Amino acid sequence: MFRKAACVFPEKRRVNSAPHAPDQQDWLLPAEPRSAGDAPWPSPAGVHIMRLAGVAVNAVGDMAMREASEVETFDATAVNSARVRQPLYAARKKIFPKRAEGRFRRFKWIVMLITLGVYYLTPWIRWNRGAFAPDQGVLVDLANRRFYFFPIEIWPQEFYFVAGLLIMAGFGLFLLTSTVGRAWCGYTCPQTVWVDLFLVVERAIEGERNARIKLDAAPWSANKLFRRIAKHAIWLLIAVLTGGAWIFYFADAPTLARELATGQAAPVAYMTIAILTGTTYVFGGLMREQVCTYMCPWPRIQAAMLDENSLTVTYNDWRGEPRSRHAKKAAAAGQVIGDCVDCNACVAVCPMGIDIRDGQQLECITCALCIDACDNVMDKIGKERGLISYATLAEYESNRLLATAGGASAIDPRRVRDASGRLSDKVATFHLKKLLRPRNLIYFAAWSAVGLGLIYALLTRERLQVNVLADRNPQYVVLSDGAIRNGFTVKLLNMIPEPRTFTVTLENLPGADMNVVGMDHPAGRSFSVEVEPDKLKTLKVFVRQPHDSIAGPKQSFRFVVQDTASHESAQYDATFESPMEPVR
Ligand code: SF4
Ligand code: SF4
Repeated sequence: MFRKAACVFPEKRRVNSAPHAPDQQDWLLPAEPRSAGDAPWPSPAGVHIMRLAGVAVNAVGDMAMREASEVETFDATAVNSARVRQPLYAARKKIFPKRAEGRFRRFKWIVMLITLGVYYLTPWIRWNRGAFAPDQGVLVDLANRRFYFFPIEIWPQEFYFVAGLLIMAGFGLFLLTSTVGRAWCGYTCPQTVWVDLFLVVERAIEGERNARIKLDAAPWSANKLFRRIAKHAIWLLIAVLTGGAWIFYFADAPTLARELATGQAAPVAYMTIAILTGTTYVFGGLMREQVCTYMCPWPRIQAAMLDENSLTVTYNDWRGEPRSRHAKKAAAAGQVIGDCVDCNACVAVCPMGIDIRDGQQLECITCALCIDACDNVMDKIGKERGLISYATLAEYESNRLLATAGGASAIDPRRVRDASGRLSDKVATFHLKKLLRPRNLIYFAAWSAVGLGLIYALLTRERLQVNVLADRNPQYVVLSDGAIRNGFTVKLLNMIPEPRTFTVTLENLPGADMNVVGMDHPAGRSFSVEVEPDKLKTLKVFVRQPHDSIAGPKQSFRFVVQDTASHESAQYDATFESPMEPVR
């Protein structure tokens, strides 16, 4: 399906050292003096030097064009580009992405290994929290309503930490998108990572792009059946492991693994694995790019977050057009040609089935594999890398204006090169300081503020809490001696994984005492109680005040709770209810 010409690729050349391939030398000279009053320019000597330079450039350029005709070209169609797709959903046309080689592909391998490693291995990391708490580093303990993250333990009433983390993730995504476009989609989104993993399996079993296309078109045979069964079996195995790894975050992983293996796990565990196996297999193996194109809302949302200074993967048509597969012939015919040799390598590697040369597209996940593919082509034909590159819209527009003489003509790539054939100094390039623009700084400030707030809250949070609920029916009881009694439900939270003894004391209620239902101690102004590690203790407390001490129908008072060992304390302001008139 692809044409492979006599393959005599030259040695790779240094980027930027290779000259451009102009098709005629006269473009090096200005057509006319800049104004009527200008001295003739260039001078005769200058003209001579520039002509010589032009000849030299043409000589090397010819060589580059000869090589361009020998670049491997691919019969690849952008089957998923918006101009090819039907307006609504259309049946999927299969995409067989070629394996890319290059710095972005290597970076993606590293990110893939890290993200998959984190996902599969995290539940197996142990973290010693003592005898009274689970020793799994990261655990969502639904049964006891706790979330453990190494030394941090989150109770349900501390859900604001989770909300804070979600807000941080939101601001982080805004910041990332505003600076480097859809880097999340291209590198770390689970859909991207798992599709990459499934493609590794597919390539290992069915071969590279051409072999896969051939196999797909071939009639069913024992070989095809064997390869298809093997591929889908491994995909299913990965999907099962993915679903299995997920549930290990919700229970002790070694115990649950044993229970799963022996068929003793809860039905919900098997059901969750089955659902996640199905979604992983279908999304990662069968639907692939369709999930991003049709299901994910992020491509639509991110458009609002990009601006003219956001980095996106860009085809630099200001140096690539007019494209030609026959650069040498075109040059011989006096045609102007750009750097693109129309080899389709960028289309062949694209996992989304699009052609970046069509411009910015919603389907592009900015995985940068087309940059790698094109850079390799540029190396082979001896031109500067970066025909496809990460660039901002502002840079692109500026360079396009340069190549079109301010929009007055069609693209003439000679305008972006200097006399030596190299890209001119006038070509706008990305500089890191462009990241320090107000929008990014605001996102970063918001992200940092939430993060610092969470850290402060984490460091200063109480690990002892008291909540009190007053009886409402009846609000008070008049005892035989005229004293008034109120009932309260007192909840003591011991939020550390160690047993603690708390002293509960009444304050600001003159003459009052209290006793606790089920506890054998004389009525008094305080009592002590043991609370188990990581547990909530609920007590029924009756507070009694003699009638001659009652100061009014509503008296504010306080329950003060103190840890007898650490002296950490908490308090709760309550109201003591009495009849409107003192009872005699
Ligand atoms: S066009 Fe390039 S960056 Fe965009 S999805 Fe395809 S290969 Fe990735
Ligand atoms: S942009 Fe690069 S990879 Fe794509 S067709 Fe042109 S030369 Fe080939």
